[in-house]
Amino acid sequence: MAKFKTIDDMEFNGKVVFVRADLNVPAKDGKVTDATRIERFVPTVMDLAKKGAKVVITSHFGRPKGQKNPEFSLKFLVADLEKALGKPVKFVNDCIGDEVKSAVSSMKNGEVIMLENLRFYAEEEKNDAEFAKKLAENVDIYVNDAFSCAHRAHASTEGIAKLKPNCAGRLMQAELQALDKALGAPVKPVAAIVGGAKVSTKLDLLGNLVEKVDVLVIGGGMANTFLFAKGVAVGKSLCEKEMADTAKAIMEKAKKTGCEIILPVDALISAEFKDGADASEVLVDAVPEDMMILDIGSKSVDAIVAKLASCKTLIWNGPVGAFEITPFNRGTNAIAFEVAGLTKEGKLLSVAGGGDTVSALNKAGVEEDISYISAAGGAFLEWMEGKVLPGVKALEA
Ligand code: AMP
Repeated sequence: MAKFKTIDDMEFNGKVVFVRADLNVPAKDGKVTDATRIERFVPTVMDLAKKGAKVVITSHFGRPKGQKNPEFSLKFLVADLEKALGKPVKFVNDCIGDEVKSAVSSMKNGEVIMLENLRFYAEEEKNDAEFAKKLAENVDIYVNDAFSCAHRAHASTEGIAKLKPNCAGRLMQAELQALDKALGAPVKPVAAIVGGAKVSTKLDLLGNLVEKVDVLVIGGGMANTFLFAKGVAVGKSLCEKEMADTAKAIMEKAKKTGCEIILPVDALISAEFKDGADASEVLVDAVPEDMMILDIGSKSVDAIVAKLASCKTLIWNGPVGAFEITPFNRGTNAIAFEVAGLTKEGKLLSVAGGGDTVSALNKAGVEEDISYISAAGGAFLEWMEGKVLPGVKALEA
């Protein structure tokens, strides 16, 4: 387990605390359309405020490209934050300089302010050391609660951590603990389900997983490439033929590490990629030339489910079919229900992440029954790839 301090390990009374959050929330016409990130951030602010901290909330929002572009101001979030926290939040029109200094100097213990978009300065994404110093100028302690930004070495995620005593916020702590239970020091046997469109975007991830897990279930479009590599004719299916050798190398590596790879044995096929398209189920060696594999079939679901029943830990990224359109959501849904059931019964620890996976689990209505769903996209994937995340490393140091 990564070694880092948490809010429980530090004294905050009367201290100015710079909290890096990820409040880059989905929004439309100046309104928050999904408040999940705000809600998940509440415990960190409340715990700090309870401990007497002067809480300074910071985040990036969108891609203002180093310009003070009002379109990307964080000000519109204040009302939602106040509602979620049940506390007033004062907004400061900058993230460095005199305005911040003056706002901070008039804060009382337990009060909360929010600074303007960090990416209004190009130095933020460049991890500029002088800019990190300016961010750190008015503060005593740095708290990083933005696991989803931890794969980027930016001034507010990495540079500042070196300048101040620091710790992980509650969301960062929860993410790291859940991920550690799933891949760091998991209870065995461990299974991984990897789906999604392409092998080429998940090469490092597959390479890392075959070293770490006992069972690797491959589904989605990327399974077609593996089937093709094994000599199966996949018709008009999405298939990266040029990746066949890579798929073979992954299967070879798995043999050496003792990782069992499970590929679909049957498939739901169709002539068109569209909602409500006619579909039929065939064994994978019977896919007609003019048809596409758009989901795993029921025999594959049964085989995966039987395997999961003998596992203690599961990590899941990527839908096993084109889950956005019916009936090709069937395979993903069936596995989601099974994983949720095993988790509820206490037989499986399940951790899932990645944008499409979260949306597939939400659509299946099982999000409450998965042990942990990571709110991070890119950072979750890089962590599954076995990479060291600079934002996490800086906390450990
Ligand atoms: P990713 O972003 O790599 O996790 O890929 C997710 C996407 O993969 C989703 O949009 C799915 O529709 C797509 N997908 C999953 N299975 C298939 C398939 N058999 N054929 C085409 N697309 C698929």
